[in-house]
Amino acid sequence: MTKLNTLLQNIAQIPKVEIGHFPTPLEECPRLSEVLGGPRIFIKREDCSGLAFGGNKVRQLTFTIGEAVHQGADTIVHGAASQSNHCRQAAAACGKLGLNCYLRLSRDHKSILQGNLLLDNLTGADIEIVDVPFGTELEKHKYDLAETLKTQGLKPYVIASPRSTALAAVAFTWCITEIYQQQEQLGIEADWIYTSSVGGTQAGLVLGTKVLDMKMKPYACAPIHWEGKIDRIREAGNSAASILNLDTQVSDSDILNTDDYIGSGYGYLTPECIAALRLVANSEGIILDPVYTAKAMACLIDHIKAGKFSKEDVVIFLHTGGTPALFAYNDELTNT
Ligand SMILES: *Cc1c(COP(=O)(O)O)cnc(C)c1O
Repeated sequence: MTKLNTLLQNIAQIPKVEIGHFPTPLEECPRLSEVLGGPRIFIKREDCSGLAFGGNKVRQLTFTIGEAVHQGADTIVHGAASQSNHCRQAAAACGKLGLNCYLRLSRDHKSILQGNLLLDNLTGADIEIVDVPFGTELEKHKYDLAETLKTQGLKPYVIASPRSTALAAVAFTWCITEIYQQQEQLGIEADWIYTSSVGGTQAGLVLGTKVLDMKMKPYACAPIHWEGKIDRIREAGNSAASILNLDTQVSDSDILNTDDYIGSGYGYLTPECIAALRLVANSEGIILDPVYTAKAMACLIDHIKAGKFSKEDVVIFLHTGGTPALFAYNDELTNT
């Protein structure tokens, strides 16, 4: 059996729910390559994963909510920043699957009824903006809420690290199997795959490319300063390997992840990310998001300008979604 078939078989063993449109397209961006005078660029359209405006969390939740349902849960508890794409996609998945959904979102500079928060409201999830900072305190808040819900007779499942990061890595190992097959169809073999990640997405790309012995190397641009990020990504990759029954190990040297394009902080725009967003919209009609993908594209553009690639090189940009957040950034995006 080929390595691909073995991996596909292992992935098929993991409980999942059908919530997205897969495989997502892999499409060439000739005008963007031309404008940049760069390598051949293809975009893997995880922003087109279908559910409630799509994004990389649909693929991840396929397994996290898959596990919840498998364990008999009837309620999902989640929480993060107030414009969280993860929470929006979880709320939509709960709507689709008939599960209760509780979101506890940290009050921050984008706690406005726009973008993701507006969509959360439309799904009918139970939403509270809480004065609890995003991080360990919010995680504790989520588990405390789950205890309360249990006393009310509900069967809650809390979406939280490290489990959700490990299952996210399983999801992006699966994504690599799609890219592997799409490359065969297109007759290409990418040299690099760029994305925005500081967690399961990168871990899965690293694990999948290693298992399938691919030429393509993952390079990720972090949207946020995360202490211990390399440990987090390595551990997610290795947990995914163990969930999938693989011998492959992820090591620190596999994890290329830069903080150079974050700017002043998570969710704050940089001039380079606004320029990247406008350039991709203008040259390909593809919309990036201001918090994650536009910063990763700014990184790729910078690397192209620095001469990192030849014209014959092939680079895949994994578009992780996040576009609803645009509507919470109308001022910053247009007053420049
Ligand atoms: C969550 C998210 C990411 C990061 O994904 P990880 O798997 O946590 O690294 C990147 N881009 C978008 C749009 C996201 O919503």
